[in-house]
Amino acid sequence: MNNETKGNGAVQPHDASAAGSPRPEEFRCAWRLILLGAPGVGKGTQGELLSQRLGICHISTGDLFRAAGNRKGSEQTPAMAEAVKYMRHGDLVPDSTVWDLVREQDDSLRSRVGFLLDGFPRTLPQAELLKNFMDQEKLPLGAVVDYEMPESEIVFRLSGRRICAKCKAVFHVTWRPPKNEGVCDECGGRLYRRDDDNPASIAIRLEAYRHSTAPLIQFYRNLGVLAPVNAVGSAEEVYARTIVALEARA
Ligand code: AMP
Repeated sequence: MNNETKGNGAVQPHDASAAGSPRPEEFRCAWRLILLGAPGVGKGTQGELLSQRLGICHISTGDLFRAAGNRKGSEQTPAMAEAVKYMRHGDLVPDSTVWDLVREQDDSLRSRVGFLLDGFPRTLPQAELLKNFMDQEKLPLGAVVDYEMPESEIVFRLSGRRICAKCKAVFHVTWRPPKNEGVCDECGGRLYRRDDDNPASIAIRLEAYRHSTAPLIQFYRNLGVLAPVNAVGSAEEVYARTIVALEARA
């Protein structure tokens, strides 16, 4: 994974010519994408693959909050310190804090190569703020990929998930165990369990998804941009389905 991560957790586009197909020039224009779906469906993994291979900016609000959480207390704004508390508990961060954070990614949002939003928007007010901004700035939204997965599979994935601290590769204690416990097969980095991948936080996150995020499916269906994708399967299988769904919209 050779994304260039800025200090704050945002990721700039790659040299897509070095990555696998398809290449950005094969597409109609800049892609402006949103990845929707419950926690654990693999948005982060697909976000990495899509941003690498399409050469677009990857904006993950979860990564931005985690990067803020890793900063020393004195380097955090009060709003950010509060956001980190919500995140650790599994609750959604207040809309105004999330929107401020997203607006800080102005260069990526206006980038001529396009962007991919992973984990944002998660509530109707966030979706409306984004829509008003994009309408005002004349930035057309290409597609909203909605990753679908049964809830039992989601709980299984989240409860055994381990992530590489260095390259963000995702493992699972039974489904995809690393060769050496606690060590990433890809880069030798340390594997960790996310603070919010515990049973209590998982239940809160899934309830937040059902209550606040699922209504966005209808919101984007009404706008004619929804692209549902079955998220069960390997990362490459899901990636291939995503590309088919995007090509159908190109
Ligand atoms: P994620 O990595 O996308 O699962 O996000 C991790 C956590 O960050 C979430 O459980 C929320 O606490 C917080 N978060 C990330 N994105 C948002 C958002 N768009 N709205 C509210 N909270 C968010």
